[in-house]
Amino acid sequence: MAAPYGYKVHAAVCTATSLSVAWKVETAKDPELPVVPVLLDSVARRGFAPDVCVMDRSYDVDVIYDETESRRIRPVVPLRQTPAVKAGKDKPPACEHGEWTFAGSDAERGASKSRCPTAECDPQSVWVKASRLHPLIPRNSDRFRTFTTSAGHGRARVRRFEAPVDAAPAAGAPTAARAVAR
Ligand SMILES: [Zn+2]
Repeated sequence: MAAPYGYKVHAAVCTATSLSVAWKVETAKDPELPVVPVLLDSVARRGFAPDVCVMDRSYDVDVIYDETESRRIRPVVPLRQTPAVKAGKDKPPACEHGEWTFAGSDAERGASKSRCPTAECDPQSVWVKASRLHPLIPRNSDRFRTFTTSAGHGRARVRRFEAPVDAAPAAGAPTAARAVAR
């Protein structure tokens, strides 16, 4: 029998039901970022197609944005205060008319559109490539705030539990989660 402590349970949790849709047990010393693509693939194999994945700040790393966007899942992750953020590189473009406003995202294009607030600039808008600094769901948008403050369908949340293996999500959870997917 494995030692009860020193393990982490990484779980993709449906935010509508709080049920774990996929999970993986790792030793506590294993890095957590490589678990995210494994979990997202597992979620897909089980027939779920979340359009958004909400993660905490510790997942605010470039590779996580690539892993989610390449699966057509929008990442919702709070920003870490990295040097780029301290330098204001996460801010929208700005001009003499003010800070440019979000004018929609195009997932196929992998970019979001920013627009001059008074439409006096030429061009009036620019496409900003998706990245951790400029995710397709902007952090200053109501939509982003909705994901970080409430639950809903079509969203997964990747979480990490420090727990004895015995306290891993119940073996029956996938069945229950599948029922919810209908
Ligand atoms: Zn302008």
